[in-house]
Amino acid sequence: DKDIEFDLRLAIKEAVNLMKHQFLVENCDLKLSMPGQPVFILGDRMRMEQVLINLFRNALDALMEVDSPLLGVRLSAEGDKATIHVWDNGPGIAEEVGKKIFEPFVTTKKEGIGVGLGLSISYKIVKDMKGDFRVANRDPNGAEFFIHIPLSNQQQ
Ligand code: ADP
Ligand code: MG
Repeated sequence: DKDIEFDLRLAIKEAVNLMKHQFLVENCDLKLSMPGQPVFILGDRMRMEQVLINLFRNALDALMEVDSPLLGVRLSAEGDKATIHVWDNGPGIAEEVGKKIFEPFVTTKKEGIGVGLGLSISYKIVKDMKGDFRVANRDPNGAEFFIHIPLSNQQQ
């Protein structure tokens, strides 16, 4: 069983680190905000990193034609849950994708570029951690994703 306690800040730092070069190459600014204290949850840290990398890759794809691409990542802990907020200043979620975004094989990308599995797998990973995954469009533009995960017991 790989479900052990880990600090979500480390998963975010690691995912950001793995994508750092890509942010640079694609000229994307990163706004990262995390609490000063650890945010412990139960789960598989590698899988959480995979979820974040999926979100970052999707945002970079959406930001391809944007003049000043910006990706925001904010971690917070409140009550009995942690929240990861990932947002961008791209065009937002296309209407035809809408509510189906977490279903497998939903993609707006060219054949061979996206197969539409990233978010469905990510959704399953978050659900396995007894979490919640939401998506919305931002005003006036951009997409945002919220992941809510229960904090591990010691912290509540
Ligand atoms: P894929 O990346 O292979 O297309 P995903 O499951 O990762 O599959 O994403 C599904 C679809 O959701 C994408 O094709 C895109 O249309 C939409 N999407 C995901 N993230 C964003 C985002 N940050 N901005 C706009 N659209 C997005
Ligand atoms: Mg994807």
